[in-house]
Amino acid sequence: MARYTGPLCRLCRAEQKKLFLKGDRCKSDKCPINKKRSAPGKDPKGRTGKRTEYGIQLHEKQKLRRMYGILEKQFYLTYERAQRMPGVTGENLIRLLEARLDNVVFRLHFAGSRNQARQLVLHGHVLVNGKAVNIPSYSVKPGDVVEVKEKSKKLTVVQEGLKEVSQSGTYAYVSVDPDAVKGTFTAYPRREEVTDLADIKEQLVVEFYSR
Ligand code: SF4
Repeated sequence: MARYTGPLCRLCRAEQKKLFLKGDRCKSDKCPINKKRSAPGKDPKGRTGKRTEYGIQLHEKQKLRRMYGILEKQFYLTYERAQRMPGVTGENLIRLLEARLDNVVFRLHFAGSRNQARQLVLHGHVLVNGKAVNIPSYSVKPGDVVEVKEKSKKLTVVQEGLKEVSQSGTYAYVSVDPDAVKGTFTAYPRREEVTDLADIKEQLVVEFYSR
């Protein structure tokens, strides 16, 4: 399955925003955004022009897409699915993104970043309701139980990720048992529950695709 394989920090620099793509490094002083590195290809002392309406919408879409590590085609298909659902399209889009298996593995803290979570899924370390699923975009349903395979529970990436449960807790729409390395996607999240997307304006993404 196709995915972006270039430098991840470059994506954050392009948006001039932390997209938290690298786990622990993102919280450290090594993060280029903390060091106020300029956008790639831009002169740090150069003038920054005012963005057009289109540019603002495009950047909002890119930010959201990059946070979830999805290529354009799949992101657009998710948007189309969100559009067909009852309710507000932007909120539906975030619900669908949050229900992706790689994201749920990340939210349960079985990995330090969505990228690591995606690798865990791809390499067959994850079970959904007791069955192996190796598709990162698999759509988890409320009530589904997601766990790491018995032989994979001691993996460093899993154990490092689980430290976050005691440090920062979990999200309202998942419950996790760190000892069993098992958790449940309890419900599709309400928009305000996805706290790390608080500054994302999903309406701009909808406007971008509605042009
Ligand atoms: Fe790199 Fe993480 Fe900082 Fe983004 S947030 S620039 S991925 S270290």
